[in-house]
Amino acid sequence: MIEFESLNRLSVYLDRLIKGQLWFKVILGLVVGAGLGIFLNPSSGFISERISGQIADWLELPGQIFMRLVQMIMIPLIFTSIITGIVSNTSENLKSIGPRLLVYFFFTTGVAIIIGLAVTLILEPGKYFVSLGGFLGTGEGPKIPEQRNDVLQDIPNAISNLIPNNPLEAFLTGEMLGVVIFTILIGVAITQLKPVTARPLIRFSEAVQKICMIVVSWAMRLVPYAVFGLMAALLSRTGLEIFMGLGYYIGVVILGLFILLVFYLILVFIITQRSPLKFLKQIKEPQLLAFSMASSAAVMPLSMKTADEKLGVSSNISDFVIPVGATINMDGTALFQCVTTLFMAQVYGVELSMINLLLITFTVVAASIGTPAVPGGGVIVLASVLQSAGIPVDGLIVIIGIDRILGMFRTSVNVTGDLTACVIFDKFYGESREEVLIKTPPEV
Ligand code: ASP
Repeated sequence: MIEFESLNRLSVYLDRLIKGQLWFKVILGLVVGAGLGIFLNPSSGFISERISGQIADWLELPGQIFMRLVQMIMIPLIFTSIITGIVSNTSENLKSIGPRLLVYFFFTTGVAIIIGLAVTLILEPGKYFVSLGGFLGTGEGPKIPEQRNDVLQDIPNAISNLIPNNPLEAFLTGEMLGVVIFTILIGVAITQLKPVTARPLIRFSEAVQKICMIVVSWAMRLVPYAVFGLMAALLSRTGLEIFMGLGYYIGVVILGLFILLVFYLILVFIITQRSPLKFLKQIKEPQLLAFSMASSAAVMPLSMKTADEKLGVSSNISDFVIPVGATINMDGTALFQCVTTLFMAQVYGVELSMINLLLITFTVVAASIGTPAVPGGGVIVLASVLQSAGIPVDGLIVIIGIDRILGMFRTSVNVTGDLTACVIFDKFYGESREEVLIKTPPEV
């Protein structure tokens, strides 16, 4: 009887935990999914490769549906959030937030690259890989491509291309950077209108943003199943042998990301005087979701909710900083791209001069800005970084094999970077709820 009662209490407790706590469901999904994935992996000998592949396709279904739902509302959500974010700032705020946010993003990306350079140059994962007789080696010695792209020459073009000459094309093809830049311009232009003209636009934009968030809240119900399925499918397809020889490199990337995380926590502590541990606790849900989905875009709505509800950031900041950050601020990705470029150079024995390192830094900044916030985005863009540094791109195929794992870690860091920016900018430009109430005219 007593046992029954305590079991009962346990189940009530678990029930309560499971009902409200997304983070608990995500961890449960990750752990159970990983267990199933290891069981389904053909190397465990329980299931044939064909059947395992078929089951994995089905397991991925909730994750695919979640991603599609979020992607479906991503463009209207980004558009309306940025507009409402911009118009809810005072004009003095607006003049300084935009440029300072950009400078801040460049600063943190720079720090990420410096950490990446330092850990790779000190720990030399490429040399270790070669001494293992790594499977990248072609036996032909270092390959130095005859022609190097002159990245510096491309910069003026790249800058003018940031402005979409056909915004509809950017919207239709989901080219987020173009969408963000167009939206910022439109948002600032709206602030120049007379209030009576601007109000219907602002109201419409707020309504669409709310509708998007409702659709997201429906999609969020899928999250535990999505996480479970994606994890199971991932581990059922990825054999452990793929990590052999790359373990040290993976460790270096994760160490770099960890140092970057500590850097964010120090910033949060010094600038906002928040407790780093409390901050980490408050953002654990978006971090876990980012880890499971490997996509900042998929986490963007939850990041906005977390910033508003858990971190107490005012919405004039979160509406603006999160969508812009999710699109252009990818410090974890920059660090990964930097470590991987130097790793490849070490593996292929390509000597990099100081100028080369500077060039890599420039290209990685641009590459991380241009990386789409989708799973594996960072590794696709990496090809152009390698090319511009004169490093053979063939080795990327090995990295792609393990990229999902690295993508999970770097996406969590990317999302942490955006939330860190949020609390920092809230400290200087956030509006208290009272101020917002005074500014908002009563509904008619
Ligand atoms: N998946 C990452 C993100 O969405 C980008 C990357 O692959 O590095 O933040």
